[in-house]
Amino acid sequence: MTELSSAPTVPVGNAGPALDPGLDVWRTLPIQQQPSWHGTPEHDAAVRELSVLPPLVFAGEVDVLRGRLAAAAQGKAFLLQGGDCAETFADATADKISARVKTILQMAVVLTYGASMPVIKMGRMAGQFAKPRSSDTETRNGVTLPAFRGDIVNGYEFTPESRRHDPARLVKAYNTSASTLNLIRAFTQGGFADLRSVHNWNRGFTENPAHAAYESLAGEIDRAIRFMEACGADFDELKRTEFFAAHEALLLDYERALTRTDSRTGLPYDTSAHFLWIGERTRQLDGAHVDFLSRVRNPIGVKLGPNSTPEDALALIDKLDPNREPGRLTFISRMGAKNIREKLPHLVEKVTASGAQVLWVTDPMHGNTVTSQNGYKTRNFEDVMDEVRGFFEVHDALGTYPGGLHVEMTGDDVAECLGGADPIREEQFNDLYESVCDPRLNHRQSLEMAFLVSGALAK
Ligand code: PEP
Ligand code: MN
Repeated sequence: MTELSSAPTVPVGNAGPALDPGLDVWRTLPIQQQPSWHGTPEHDAAVRELSVLPPLVFAGEVDVLRGRLAAAAQGKAFLLQGGDCAETFADATADKISARVKTILQMAVVLTYGASMPVIKMGRMAGQFAKPRSSDTETRNGVTLPAFRGDIVNGYEFTPESRRHDPARLVKAYNTSASTLNLIRAFTQGGFADLRSVHNWNRGFTENPAHAAYESLAGEIDRAIRFMEACGADFDELKRTEFFAAHEALLLDYERALTRTDSRTGLPYDTSAHFLWIGERTRQLDGAHVDFLSRVRNPIGVKLGPNSTPEDALALIDKLDPNREPGRLTFISRMGAKNIREKLPHLVEKVTASGAQVLWVTDPMHGNTVTSQNGYKTRNFEDVMDEVRGFFEVHDALGTYPGGLHVEMTGDDVAECLGGADPIREEQFNDLYESVCDPRLNHRQSLEMAFLVSGALAK
């Protein structure tokens, strides 16, 4: 976490229609990781446009999700959050979106069987366009340009024109989120999510000899489905599934412009997504992000890295969940495989002792990033799985609930993370590394993780 003292504030701009005046307090507070475009006429115009566009999600759906997350916090459901580190405008195609949704549904079936409880499906999708960066600039071959901050801010291409912070991208991000979410809704409501097809796709995975170890679990799921069929289960009911959208709430002018008053309750909802999380770099207690998100009704996540103290966690609970509302707050720990067994127990113990009931989720990706010999940002599947195992061990030992999994993954056959049963090797990176930010599990590695976690949940 960066210190706040030197952080700039964002000047008051076009805030959109007046809601609760508290929704603009963040503008007076130190803020990290924002683009340098405030106060320009282009920025004002983009924010004005966003503030009158229709909401992307409805407050009622957000309330349903809060209820589902409350069940997960009580050990009665499991949350699966997955998707790109950074979505891109170019990859918001039908093929890529369907592959990702398909992979999440496939993982969810396997996890549902292992956990014997509902799995809440959530994409890092339809809005995951803004990235915090460790440096404002990037230097290649002696040329220094602004760092890539996600398609909502600038382009990945390494030219001065592309790396310029362009406020028109805010509106493009909204439009791309809308078309992505439209397709997700069509897929998950229109028959694509049929349990039997999802199970059939999983057969493709277990037919690979590298995945022979997972055949018996797949066989059990197969028998369970045939048993349901024989009993006359209503498969029409199993053709649809709920699917929620989530992203890191990083650009507060975007989030504020999409915040609307719910006509039913008169309360503010950030309608850019169902679930929003605050990143490890922007979770300062007296900073803008925590303040803004404390004032919207959506369920909120906070990433907790290895330097998080129990005092940080308790203060975040007081600020973000003062009423101790079930489902309101999710802590997404991202400690690293080497740290989780040592660092997570203190946090969980103190939070539990305080009487707060948060949902604990593991992000086994962000604490395990390394650079490969040939210069790519990568992660070893074994380290990722070790952090997941550590997460289950910690919660088992404390008698608390390991409530979910937050992963960077894709439905495509990329090579970005090393290892897995059908292993990815560094030599494949030159041809198959596509991520513009952090490395993702590919389709097979994602399913393998689901089979392994399913085994852990079944215990
Ligand atoms: C991310 O989720 O891509 C991310 C930047 O995570 P963190 O805030 O945990 O570093
Ligand atoms: Mn990432």
